[in-house]
Amino acid sequence: MPQYWTRLRKSLGFVALTMPMFVPFGMRKAFRRLAFLCGLLLFGGCVAIACSAYLLRDIQAYPESPQFENGRFRNPVPRPPLNFWNNPKLMWTFFFDKPAGTVPQQAIPVIRLTQADLLNAADNSVFRLGHSTLLFKINGKFWLTDPVFAERVSPLSWFGPKRFHEVPIALEALPPLEAVILSHNHYDHLDHDAVRQLAGKTRHFIAPLGVGDLLVSRGIPAEKVQQLDWWQGTQVDGLRLIATPAQHFSGRGLRDSDKTLWCSWVIQSGDFRLFFSGDSGYFDGFKTIGDRYGPFDMAFMETGAYDPHWAYVHMLPEQTLQGFKDLRGQWLFPIHNGTFDLSLHAWNDPFERITALAAKHDINLATPKIGAPTRFLAPQAGSAWWRAKP
Ligand SMILES: [Zn+2]
Ligand SMILES: [Zn+2]
Repeated sequence: MPQYWTRLRKSLGFVALTMPMFVPFGMRKAFRRLAFLCGLLLFGGCVAIACSAYLLRDIQAYPESPQFENGRFRNPVPRPPLNFWNNPKLMWTFFFDKPAGTVPQQAIPVIRLTQADLLNAADNSVFRLGHSTLLFKINGKFWLTDPVFAERVSPLSWFGPKRFHEVPIALEALPPLEAVILSHNHYDHLDHDAVRQLAGKTRHFIAPLGVGDLLVSRGIPAEKVQQLDWWQGTQVDGLRLIATPAQHFSGRGLRDSDKTLWCSWVIQSGDFRLFFSGDSGYFDGFKTIGDRYGPFDMAFMETGAYDPHWAYVHMLPEQTLQGFKDLRGQWLFPIHNGTFDLSLHAWNDPFERITALAAKHDINLATPKIGAPTRFLAPQAGSAWWRAKP
């Protein structure tokens, strides 16, 4: 067997080296890129199929859920076909021809945190650790959303979008957590390695339907895991957490798409109401959530990884602003930006656009540096740190 593998490798290497010789000189660069794209698709397909087979073992059906139909979860408004994988021009642009500035040229400022900083921090504070990872301190306890500590958000440790900045605090240095709150199973929201490492210091894992099954299958004790359908709530140490709708999708491979649910979260106590959007396109659910649970003291809302091609699953900044108004928010805290390159826009475009929109519409906007504390009942705007020159 090994000799066949060696022969195959040699043959592929020979083809890769000699094929460009038969291509006119001026077209060789394009040829190599095309070959790379084909190889990437082939390799990606194999990885996705392998991941799916592995993941499908652990996924259960939830026919009793109003969101579950024909073996998959669905949004109330049907999703148009995602036109990324069947749009070669868009894929070409995404992999080879990205506009300038999708990755920052200079280091992003990060406020480093120690466990002592967190233990001494004021109650009702939030620290953004990056992307959609938020660490709340409430009633002296710590709560973490969508924890991602990985260097890359992909099934492979050496390939895929790489983080722009370090996490402000090492995972091992985090204090004990009351709960980890998850919105869905995409790689930029569910980092299985991080979750596994957090299991020992976390009392509760709260997730949408099906995502809890994934956690249990990866070794998180079942008694720590709660999974909820849309509009279901749970009480954890004085906090009420309600899984609310989002217009999105799920999946970590090819065959597990929409097999687990996605959601946003309402987090409320007698003193405050917060909203965490997870990932979502703009939909009338924001109005419904606002009517039922608003107004919100602070809404942490997706503002990044958008593009008109996939506006159904990720909001453009104008839609984020409208969703925030629908929710009846007091302060808007944009998330899902500044950490990973997941779209075609400049890395700082979300900050610039939402800042301009907030000023125009007289909306309170909180844009703290990564790692800086924000008192969500007495917030401050934060500086335009993304404009700073090194
Ligand atoms: Zn997502
Ligand atoms: Zn996301």
